[in-house]
Amino acid sequence: MKRTAWVAAAFAGFAAAFAVFAAPPVLEPAELVLTNGAVYTVNGARSWAQAVGITRGRIVFVGTDAAAKTRVGPNTRVVDLGGKMVLPGFHDSHVHPVLGGVDTLDCDLNDAATPAAALESVRKYASAHPDKKWVRGTGWALTLFPDGNPSRTLLDTVVSDRPVFLWASDGHSAWVNSKALALAGVTKATPDPPAGRIERDQATGEPSGTLRESAADLVAKHLPERTPQELEDGLRAALKIANRFGLTSLLEANASEEDLETYTALEKRGELTARIFASIHCDPDKGVAEVPRLRALRTKYAGKRLRPEGIKIFADGVLETRTAAVLEPYTGFPGDRGKPNLTPEVFGPLATALDKEGFQIHVHAIGDRAVRMSLDAIEAARKANGVRDARHHLAHIELIDPADIPRFRRLGVVANFQPFWANGDRWLTELTEPKLGPERSRWLYPIQSVVASGAAFAFGSDWDVSSMNPLDGIEVAVTRREPEKGPGAGWLPEERITLPDAIAGYTIRGAYVDFSEKETGSLEVGKSADLIVLDKNLFEIPPSQIHDAKVLWTLLEGKEVFRAKGF
Ligand SMILES: [Zn+2]
Repeated sequence: MKRTAWVAAAFAGFAAAFAVFAAPPVLEPAELVLTNGAVYTVNGARSWAQAVGITRGRIVFVGTDAAAKTRVGPNTRVVDLGGKMVLPGFHDSHVHPVLGGVDTLDCDLNDAATPAAALESVRKYASAHPDKKWVRGTGWALTLFPDGNPSRTLLDTVVSDRPVFLWASDGHSAWVNSKALALAGVTKATPDPPAGRIERDQATGEPSGTLRESAADLVAKHLPERTPQELEDGLRAALKIANRFGLTSLLEANASEEDLETYTALEKRGELTARIFASIHCDPDKGVAEVPRLRALRTKYAGKRLRPEGIKIFADGVLETRTAAVLEPYTGFPGDRGKPNLTPEVFGPLATALDKEGFQIHVHAIGDRAVRMSLDAIEAARKANGVRDARHHLAHIELIDPADIPRFRRLGVVANFQPFWANGDRWLTELTEPKLGPERSRWLYPIQSVVASGAAFAFGSDWDVSSMNPLDGIEVAVTRREPEKGPGAGWLPEERITLPDAIAGYTIRGAYVDFSEKETGSLEVGKSADLIVLDKNLFEIPPSQIHDAKVLWTLLEGKEVFRAKGF
């Protein structure tokens, strides 16, 4: 037998055997079939499909329209997508749903473009809520005021009879009126707390009305506690926004016990319309002594959609106000390298103890010194406990020393960027770059360098610090420009990434961070039907228009959690 004939015979025999023993199974019709779509599956091959079949919340078919016909029965609901794009549901790997949601019920200063507009919002809110003992608000931009430093006297002009407390949009500074300072007993004689700063009038030394980092707590601790009802209303508002933006998985970035209680309350009532992986807040001052409490919370609040398996540690503050920990002094501030929130002597043993308990560590690290300290602490944990599938992650990572970039991959640490911030806006050009100088500024948000290093990465919004819309983050990751500015040159364009990588950062790579990549994050048979339909195919529009695309339909476990009007 010639070799080719032998091969042919063998194949014929094999095919015959296959026909006998593996006749095509009679496939059950699907409950729901989406056809005529541009389905970007985000599977390993990043392949495209036309149709998706769903039964009992699971994906049972992904393929062509022709093949999908075999899954349509008399009771199948068929939805013709008219060529629209389908993606896996988005994942936000760093977001504050309860905190941000409650903020939406307070005075919202996010849209105030001038100091006058901010003051007018405060005045209006105060007069609309005469019953509130405190006027609370959030979202004012540091860029509205010289040095990000608004005064109490300005605020006194609109509200002087009641205390006013307003978080800046980044959550690291607070603007208060004179009444609030008086009520909290913060005076000229009050020293700066260890990890904070009371801004003062240069002539008199009196507190001027802006409080940085832990100094804000001096007043914040006097705010009335949020009621469980307020927290639940806030979370419900946040979930609505999330589902509207196509988000089906949220990594809660800093959960208190009250937050966990809130998620549980909604889950019990079937109102938790996103998967929640929570990082529980850890007090670095208590260090290793925190571990038993954290372990108890993990057990107590474990649910089906709520998984409190991460621990949040704040390593430092932010660059704009020089509270981020940097390796070399801030440019123009000799000797000032910022303030880390914990020492390496505390961080190493804490990370080791948490890792040993099987927790995932989630660090807020912004300056290059904080990034290095965090990697060192995780390296120490790996040395002590051995290598495990821990998926610890560093969030924000705004400034990374190039020597530390390869360490993410080497240590299995996920780089959790908030790509929207890399847009070259005034926060960067006016408040950040001048404090770092040009040489260091090159290493602000080095997303492509990290991606190219082979490290795991994931993306999040840090809402309500900035927009929760993943399409805003995807656009900036690809363009490095402010979305409203239209097409043009990007800021540090060498750090732009591709659209497939940007989408992966908000889907399958987000699923990796919360250990759900076998369940969600891509459109593959067997996975949960967490998916969205968009009005535009992101691959067929200019990158500068990505933020204008709209989510039309959001499904979680095959159930509709959002549908746009008219879809
Ligand atoms: Zn955050």
